[in-house]
Amino acid sequence: MPDNVVQRGARRVYQGVIEHVTAHNADTRSLLIRVPEVNEFHFVPGQFISVAIPIDERRETRAYSLALSPQDGQPLEICLNLIAEGVGSHYLFGLGPGAPLSFTGPFGLFTLEHPREYETVFVAEGTAIAPIRAMIRHALGTSGHPPLTLLYTAADQAHLLYRAEFETLASQHPNFRFEQRVSASGRLSALLDEIEARYVRADAGRERHFYVCGVGNDVLRVRDLLRAAGYARRAVEYERW
Ligand SMILES: Cc1cc2nc3c(=O)[nH]c(=O)nc-3n(C[C@H](O)[C@H](O)[C@H](O)COP(=O)(O)OP(=O)(O)OC[C@H]3O[C@@H](n4cnc5c(N)ncnc54)[C@H](O)[C@@H]3O)c2cc1C
Repeated sequence: MPDNVVQRGARRVYQGVIEHVTAHNADTRSLLIRVPEVNEFHFVPGQFISVAIPIDERRETRAYSLALSPQDGQPLEICLNLIAEGVGSHYLFGLGPGAPLSFTGPFGLFTLEHPREYETVFVAEGTAIAPIRAMIRHALGTSGHPPLTLLYTAADQAHLLYRAEFETLASQHPNFRFEQRVSASGRLSALLDEIEARYVRADAGRERHFYVCGVGNDVLRVRDLLRAAGYARRAVEYERW
């Protein structure tokens, strides 16, 4: 086993190194992480890693979604925003290129391994675009994918992350539609009326697949709206941070 991979119980602990830090805006960054002795880090788009946050003697961890697709290879990317008094995000914002980063994973069932049979709608807010970006990059790399729509909100343009990338992808892939919404709250709740109008009231069709990602109970409100409208449970996948 390479030196930088430690086996702890059944869990492999990877010792990554931050290769690059990208500032998206004043309070959102991407960390690009290289795991030197692993040629390929296997994961499914949508999965996350569990990052060690050393605080005094405690061993805290925080989950961060991988924001690139497996086909992108290394470095891996995580994207996070600074939370007031949040120990995990403050610790990670203190790290620069060359800093070590210990993590386990990948974990999680909020994934898109094979493009779905039906139109797929991704709904995200702010940094919760991270797992969905991995899914979209992956899905667009496969042939014959169904129509994909990204409905994405943030409080201002600067917090609509990867906007230029999604615009370019939409211009290159007629089957991918990127819908960006600046909203006062920047939260999924701002999309509820639109989701209801478009996917509940506009037609009786219920053959769509949804991936919803965000912070707190808004995620459950979107999920419940769609399921109550008749979409199958398994057709409404969600991840709540
Ligand atoms: C499966 C999973 C994947 C995740 N992936 C990411 C990711 O890719 N990028 C990312 O930034 N965070 C992600 N998170 C959240 C992350 O794990 C931390 O909770 C977050 O960074 C806050 O940690 P903290 O220690 O700074 O603050 P804490 O004190 O632990 O959290 C304070 C509060 O912030 C809320 N919160 C969590 N994430 C956010 C956020 N992004 N914006 C606003 N409030 C938030 C929490 O619900 C909590 O109530 C993920 C969480 C889960 C469960």
